[in-house]
Amino acid sequence: MSVDRSTVWPYVDGEPGEYIYSRYAHPTGVEAERSLAALEGAPEGQALLFASGSAAATALLLALLESGQTVALAKGAYFGTGVIMDELSRWGLRHVEFDQTGSPPDGVDLIWIEAPSNPFLTMPDLEAAAAHRARVVVDSTAATPVYLMPLEHGADFVLHSATKYLAGHSDALAGAVVSGNAGDHQRLWQFRQRTGPACAADVAALVSRGIKTLRVRVERQTETARALAERLGAHQAVEIVRYPGFGGLLSFDVAGDPVPVERALRVIGNATSLGGVGSTMESRHRWEGDRVPVGLLRLSVGLEDVDELWADLEQALAASS
Ligand code: PLP
Repeated sequence: MSVDRSTVWPYVDGEPGEYIYSRYAHPTGVEAERSLAALEGAPEGQALLFASGSAAATALLLALLESGQTVALAKGAYFGTGVIMDELSRWGLRHVEFDQTGSPPDGVDLIWIEAPSNPFLTMPDLEAAAAHRARVVVDSTAATPVYLMPLEHGADFVLHSATKYLAGHSDALAGAVVSGNAGDHQRLWQFRQRTGPACAADVAALVSRGIKTLRVRVERQTETARALAERLGAHQAVEIVRYPGFGGLLSFDVAGDPVPVERALRVIGNATSLGGVGSTMESRHRWEGDRVPVGLLRLSVGLEDVDELWADLEQALAASS
């Protein structure tokens, strides 16, 4: 596929044409956005790429909300999302946490849920969220459009860290927001164009490339993750396994310090992030503190052979106290 790295396009007969300046839009980005909107079942082209998932989340909050308004955020959702909201509290944005397996609280202005939550792997009650008067954002990074299309369940926005499964190869940092409503999409596009958290053309091309193999990758990752979740559940060193039954992400707890298990890994990368073709695993307590159990290990299953991954986990678990 061709990557158009231009930052400017000439006017046509003295008038700005379809593409003007790459902070507004560029053809390589628009191509990826069209694919993503189609995958999520959104009206044509109602997707926007951002420089990262965090940039997408920040833009959504700043573009949609005002000082003094409140977000209901799923408890146990991606740690960084709460951190963004903490940052924005200096400008008067409030947030409260709630159990996303039930109904969101009354009196909030935006609902932010995660399907499934990272790293607790709970699924939100989408119908209860859609029944609320506030608009609903679903961070569907871990579910991917292969397993969930939140707009079909009444969500207003779907957010992705495209860094993860969409791009899929741990070599592109990007985010995306898909909007169900044309006015919201326009507002977000205006906000992105004015404030500049755009996704570069080379990265957008990697997102397009990733989308082409998304289904094949995540179906294989699901198959492997299911088998590993089952084997981990029967392992004597494992106290609990969290896996929603689909997708490549799971977490489990060991008793005591998980760092020796991390250090013993040979095939699985001891690294953060998720959604790549190479498996990665890490203790989340390191980053999230007491909001997660000390022994919690988050495993993002890649495309390696299931038995090779299990052999690595077994030998690493032998290091747990
Ligand atoms: N949402 C989820 C569920 C995530 O796991 C992450 C990153 O780990 C993000 C959003 C933030 O995305 P990014 O790292 O691309 O800024």
